[in-house]
Amino acid sequence: MTAPRRAFVLGGGIAGIVAAFGLRDRGFSVTLLESRRWLGGRAFSSPDPATGWVLDNGPHVMLGCYRSMRALLRRLGSEHAFEQDTKLRLAARDARGRHAQLRLSRLPVPLAMPPALLRLPLSWAGRLRALRGMVATLGRTPPEWSLADWFRRRGQHGEPDAWLWRPLCRAIMNVEPELASARDFLATLRIAFSGSAADAAFWLPKRPWGEIVGEPALRTLLADGVDVRCGARVVRCQVTDARVTLLEVADGEPIAVGERDVVVAALPWFAARDLWPALGAAAQLQASPIVSAYFETARGAPHLPVDGPVVSLVDGDPFHFVLRTPGADVRRFALLSGGNRVFDGMTVDAIADLARSQVERHYPGWAGGRAATVRIRKEQLATFVAAPGVAVRLAPDRPAAGLTNLWCCGDWTATGLPATLEGAARSAELVVRGVGG
Ligand SMILES: Cc1cc2nc3c(=O)[nH]c(=O)nc-3n(C[C@H](O)[C@H](O)[C@H](O)COP(=O)(O)OP(=O)(O)OC[C@H]3O[C@@H](n4cnc5c(N)ncnc54)[C@H](O)[C@@H]3O)c2cc1C
Repeated sequence: MTAPRRAFVLGGGIAGIVAAFGLRDRGFSVTLLESRRWLGGRAFSSPDPATGWVLDNGPHVMLGCYRSMRALLRRLGSEHAFEQDTKLRLAARDARGRHAQLRLSRLPVPLAMPPALLRLPLSWAGRLRALRGMVATLGRTPPEWSLADWFRRRGQHGEPDAWLWRPLCRAIMNVEPELASARDFLATLRIAFSGSAADAAFWLPKRPWGEIVGEPALRTLLADGVDVRCGARVVRCQVTDARVTLLEVADGEPIAVGERDVVVAALPWFAARDLWPALGAAAQLQASPIVSAYFETARGAPHLPVDGPVVSLVDGDPFHFVLRTPGADVRRFALLSGGNRVFDGMTVDAIADLARSQVERHYPGWAGGRAATVRIRKEQLATFVAAPGVAVRLAPDRPAAGLTNLWCCGDWTATGLPATLEGAARSAELVVRGVGG
């Protein structure tokens, strides 16, 4: 009897976990090598020493249309850890205190969107332009256009930009429309918004991400017979005759890769390009940060008005969203900023001050900010930037870097999606299909 083929999965984020399960299901003997002490990658949580709170590295929200992620959550027994909305609810608030709810009915999104627009505080001309913009999302868009170009050419500047498109762009692309590829943004909108109301609805985690993915993934992978090695950073790989033949792990024994074995790099782009410079332009991507400010208002102090679980701060600067964990104490909420470089080099105290000032601006009359406890989480390399005209993304369903036994997956590979949990999970499914033949 021949021994099973071996698969070495590098990286234990969402892509690595999905790849490890998938290859194990296909009969491979799987070893997962993760540099950190835990699994989950960019969706993780850790205890905050000052307060004892368990905080995510930043709030992560899913959509109903995240099918590959939902398959992973089912396998981990974590689907119940989400409040699963059946239709999109997004609140918005500007610095003049105007607020609104974009609330879709249960009709398919294309039918539900026009009446929902009536709820936004736009002029009639603004609503009409926004409607025209929605129709224009179906049209063709040159790859070199930024989303801001698309706004200009499709008459979406001003009110539609501020109340509708910019919040969606920040949520989906994690950069401002000036830096985002219009084509990638519109493709994602079509996936989320062309189907049922439930596809476009938020799935909001009720538990920290470590409990949703990292911890159950470790348990379940081990139970399935995967050899999981945390604290194992791959620092070098040897290539012979267009094949990876050896993996070197920091402070560990080198691992020989046999002739029938495969290596799946489920690493972020910057780690993959360090190991395999031959990945070239496909891994030369820019990164965009996410900064989160977790608040708890003092006991007895007025709590922040509850507009909904996700509130877009219209013209918000430097923070863009307020998020609440379903079922959490009303005194708790988080501010989130995506793609804003203003925090670079700033101390956490200075960031907390900015966060307090901004909540006071968008919630005039709310006096709870100064006495609130605020904890900051900063992720400099949160997502890659899906910029206009970006180099062709790497295909996860075939071998990479000119090597016959190396496959790459991760949110940055060619999934048709921006940097998302779903993109990461989907890319790994593509690798598994490719490797499994
Ligand atoms: C704060 C924040 C908020 C976000 N919010 C959302 C959201 O609301 N919705 C959404 O869909 N997406 C969100 N994202 C994006 C989402 O988290 C990512 O797209 C996804 O987690 C990427 O998964 P991945 O497996 O491709 O990569 P990663 O999660 O980066 O996994 C790669 C793994 O490889 C490991 N590694 C690196 N180098 C080595 C090495 N040399 N050897 C071994 N292991 C190595 C890393 O430690 C890591 O665990 C957010 C990201 C951040 C940071």
